[in-house]
Amino acid sequence: RRTGLTTSDREIVLTGGPPPGAAELLARDVCAWFGGRLVLDGVSLRMEPRRVTALIGPSGCGKSTFLRILNRMHELVPGAELAGEVLLDGEDVYDPRQRAQQVRMRIGMVFQKPNPFPAMSIKENVLAGLKLAGIKCGDKNALVERSLLRAGLWKEVRDRLDSPGGALSGGQQQRLCIARSLAVRPNVLLMDEPCSALDPTSTRRIEETIAEIGHEVTVVIVTHNMQQAQRVSDHCAFFLAEENQPGRIVEHGETDRMFNSPTDPRTLDYVRGHF
Ligand code: ADP
Ligand code: MG
Repeated sequence: RRTGLTTSDREIVLTGGPPPGAAELLARDVCAWFGGRLVLDGVSLRMEPRRVTALIGPSGCGKSTFLRILNRMHELVPGAELAGEVLLDGEDVYDPRQRAQQVRMRIGMVFQKPNPFPAMSIKENVLAGLKLAGIKCGDKNALVERSLLRAGLWKEVRDRLDSPGGALSGGQQQRLCIARSLAVRPNVLLMDEPCSALDPTSTRRIEETIAEIGHEVTVVIVTHNMQQAQRVSDHCAFFLAEENQPGRIVEHGETDRMFNSPTDPRTLDYVRGHF
């Protein structure tokens, strides 16, 4: 039995996976339509490596659409169209020679509602993404441990890795989904209101996890919780769709400045809870 050695100290060799580390994600003049209706108009944003960027703004202003555009999930929506560019460390995410599957492996996504495979074991859940992406791993147990450690779930589940993912609490299921995303070693992790379905204690646990992950990869998180945005993010972008208008970024910048001295009065209104 190993003692005094954590998995993070050991080499875990993945073959066929993405290049390790964080990557810069750059959106340039992104426009999006659903069935001919413009819902995002000229959104440009740089999401820095090893930083957490929070997307804030009222419902319906296009935050989830923007996240789906970042990892090519937008193209799965019937009737959806797109203009502009998304670059991952300078490479076009929409390069037709690049398979969408490969892109989504480098840019992972965690959703509002935790979605582990309920009948699969905890261990199988963590490894599920590897199979899909065709990645081989030398030491699966080490990878499972490391992924669960990074997601802050290891201690709670280490003695029941073979029990079903669906048997965990909501907050644990969400951390399992985070572990599943991390197992393929993505360069970017997108999170769409990851705590909205969770209680305050679980929310805090996830926030701690985000803070850790934010040192290793690029994190983009959508949240309606302004305290959460201030706690977890380095940068913030405020999206707004004014009456009968498509969504746009009104203002973005360092989180402290966005909350304490925004330049646009609409940002101030929103962060103070006037919407
Ligand atoms: P947010 O996440 O900020 O609440 P969304 O990105 O979900 O906003 O939605 C932005 C706009 O796009 C809304 O007007 C919404 O109705 C519309 N929309 C989102 N998804 C679809 C879809 N699959 N089909 C048609 N319209 C959509
Ligand atoms: Mg949304």
